[in-house]
Order: sequence, then C-alpha cells, then structure tokens
Amino acid sequence: MRIIIIGGGPAGLYFASAMKKFNPGFDITVYEAKNESINSFGLGYTLQGLTKDLLAHLDEDYFTSLFANNTPPRLSQATVKTNNDCQTFKFSDGHCVSRFELMRYFRNKATSLGITIEEKKVLPSELSQLQDSCDLLVGADGVNSIVRKEYAAKFVTQQHEAKIKFTWFYNDSPKPQTNVRFYVIKTSTGFIQLSSYPPNGHQAGCYH
Ligand SMILES: Cc1cc2nc3c(=O)[nH]c(=O)nc-3n(C[C@H](O)[C@H](O)[C@H](O)COP(=O)(O)OP(=O)(O)OC[C@H]3O[C@@H](n4cnc5c(N)ncnc54)[C@H](O)[C@@H]3O)c2cc1C
Repeated sequence: MRIIIIGGGPAGLYFASAMKKFNPGFDITVYEAKNESINSFGLGYTLQGLTKDLLAHLDEDYFTSLFANNTPPRLSQATVKTNNDCQTFKFSDGHCVSRFELMRYFRNKATSLGITIEEKKVLPSELSQLQDSCDLLVGADGVNSIVRKEYAAKFVTQQHEAKIKFTWFYNDSPKPQTNVRFYVIKTSTGFIQLSSYPPNGHQAGCYH
C-alpha cells in the first residue's frame, strides 16, 4: 500500500510512524513545507495521559528518547483563575516538551522506520495528481489545510473564523516550575485568556 501524507507536524508524523510500525511493507512518503504551521516557531506541548499512552503505543522508550538532554519537571498543579475566583487542582502526570524537541523525536522515529520525508510545499493544483499516485492521501497540513479546503464539498467541513490576537513569551525563573496556569479575565474590550506552563525546569512559557 502506498500512502502520501501532506504535512509533517505531530499528526502527520505520528500517523506515518504508526502505520509503518504495524505494516512494515507500506510505502509511506510525508511532504513537509517547513514553517507553514503557526506552531513551528517553538511553542510547547503538554503531554498527559492519552498523549503519553499514544506515544508509548508507538515506542515504549519514548520518554528517554524525547527527553534525552533534560528531565522535565513533573507538572503537579493547575491553577485556574478568573476575575472573581482562583482555584488550584492536582494536575495528573503531565510533562512539557517544546515543539522543537517533539518534532526532532518524531522525525527521527519516522526516518528510522523507513518513512520518506520530503521537504516540499504541496500546492492545491498538485493534489489530484498525488491522489492518483497513491492508495491513500492523508491531509495532516494543519490549521490552514489545503486538503480540507480542496475537498470541502466531499468532507462537508465547516469553518468558523474568530478574531483572536495571540502572542507568547518566555520568562526565566530561578525556581523550578511545576505549575500550569489558566487565566480567563474579562475586560471592557473583551476576554484575555492566558495559559502558562514550563517548557523545562527553569522557564515559564506564557501564551495568550
Ligand atoms: C498556543 C497553543 C498551545 C497549544 N498547546 C498544546 C498542548 O499543550 N498540547 C497539545 O496536544 N496541543 C496543543 N496545541 C495544539 C497543537 O499545537 C495542535 O493541535 C497540533 O500542532 C496539531 O498538529 P498537526 O500535525 O495537526 O498540525 P500542525 O502542527 O499545524 O502541523 C501541520 C504541518 O503541515 C505542514 N504543512 C502545511 N501546509 C502544507 C503544505 N501545503 N504542504 C506540505 N506541508 C504543509 C506544516 O508546515 C506543519 O508542519 C496548542 C496550540 C496552540 C496554538
């Protein structure tokens, strides 16, 4: 079976690796247009129960490979704050990983399994030819997916656009950070939503 995947983000590379691991005879190519994703610039991921189970399903030793150069702190608390309320909950078994580290791991995993990753931005005009040249064409091309757009009538997809201003930054912190924080603050001009978690033991990343 020949599979072509458009987009080498977490979804595309995980799918490729899982298919190849359990079907070594499959011929799989991933096309990745570098930096097309809004998340290519260094945002992090919080790994918890289900994500960890999925990673372990693919690779029992994922944790050692993923965190080869550092051991991230175990996230233990979540603080949720609004204008009128602030509560702290136990956070179950979370770890943060930077996008860069996660993608390095996924790329190594995919290539070691024999998947071809080609650096190429697929154009909408190329989709039908690609579809004809494989048994399964997978669109894993993220938020501005050309696959979703091109086949919208068949998938019956709906898209809703919202005007959200978005930024992120990192703080250095002398103390090890083990908290995730979610703030939702109502202001006269709208809501501010703020998430913060440590990408490693000595920084806090903030996204809002
Ligand atoms: C601020 C923020 C925080 C987040 N935190 C978390 C978190 O803690 N945990 C979590 O699980 N998720 C988190 N998410 C969500 C997560 O980032 C996305 O769900 C995830 O990145 C989606 O993966 P994906 O592979 O579907 O898409 P993407 O990560 O967007 O990857 C798509 C890939 O396709 C490529 N591509 C696009 N167009 C083409 C083309 N035409 N040809 C070839 N390649 C193409 C892009 O370059 C990109 O590499 C967060 C998102 C944001 C914005």
